[in-house]
Amino acid sequence: MPLAMREMLQKKISWLSLSPAHILESVKKDTCKAIVELSDGKRVETVLMKNARGQWTVCVSSQVGCAMACTFCATGSMGFTRNLLADEIVDQYRLWTAFLYERAEDKGKAERISNIVFMGMGEPLANYDNVKESIRLLLAHTDLGPTHITVSTVGLLPMLRKVLRDPEWPAVRLAVSLHSADAATRKAMMPSSFDTFLEDLIIWTAEYFEKHESRRRHLTFEYVMLSKVNDTEHHAEALIRFARRVGKVRINLIPYNFTGSVYRDSLPADFARFEALLKDAGVTVTRRRTMGDDIAAACGQLIVEKKA
Ligand code: SF4
Repeated sequence: MPLAMREMLQKKISWLSLSPAHILESVKKDTCKAIVELSDGKRVETVLMKNARGQWTVCVSSQVGCAMACTFCATGSMGFTRNLLADEIVDQYRLWTAFLYERAEDKGKAERISNIVFMGMGEPLANYDNVKESIRLLLAHTDLGPTHITVSTVGLLPMLRKVLRDPEWPAVRLAVSLHSADAATRKAMMPSSFDTFLEDLIIWTAEYFEKHESRRRHLTFEYVMLSKVNDTEHHAEALIRFARRVGKVRINLIPYNFTGSVYRDSLPADFARFEALLKDAGVTVTRRRTMGDDIAAACGQLIVEKKA
């Protein structure tokens, strides 16, 4: 294209639907977090993380705020403002791709992003159409395959059922936020929960495996470890009973890293005992690495802190 046309296009058409307002990098340089501003001035967070194998993962937001009001989550305290458009989700990935390119000394060897997780601000399945479209765009225009994309959900059952019925829903990984297999504890942590949620989730899981046996390894249950809230022996036993009923699934234990909350991370001994009880009972369990503690990398935390 002639230079004049390129300059004209650059002036008239935004390259990105968002712009970074703040970018912070952790001391270990394995986590970067950005607050990005959207065209209407609203702000969301997005995170770039390097895993133990040296691969980069981008955590994207899908909504401005969130209506789910989980009591342990900074975003949950903000309330819901609006859904992100598909472009605004994809552009979080594009922002970090450009970031890695800019900081590469040898541009031909810029590091690539290997994974995308929908674990930032918002409940992705409450923004179903835009999230689905953003995944379609990512799969069509990047080198990422569906198993390198994970959609995390609080467990919105009507939407999980829609996923089962939707022939165009991509074969991405799903991470359901369980956080407790004790109904009362879960309700206290997640007001969107209800009395029959766990039973309904077990039924949904059976249907999911019946329909997608090959995706069994692509479904995980997330469990954030809160001291004396959901990490007791009673909670481990409830989780073991739940895991036995859903069959072979992975439970991912998550250390809690939001520092401004009334909740505290499990004490190391309690965490280890909880994990051992699950393993002894034959439950497949993993533990997520904590990253970016020094830059408020928990979902929504940086925006809440910047407002304070
Ligand atoms: S944990 Fe997720 S679903 Fe719950 S309030 Fe936070 S962003 Fe929303």
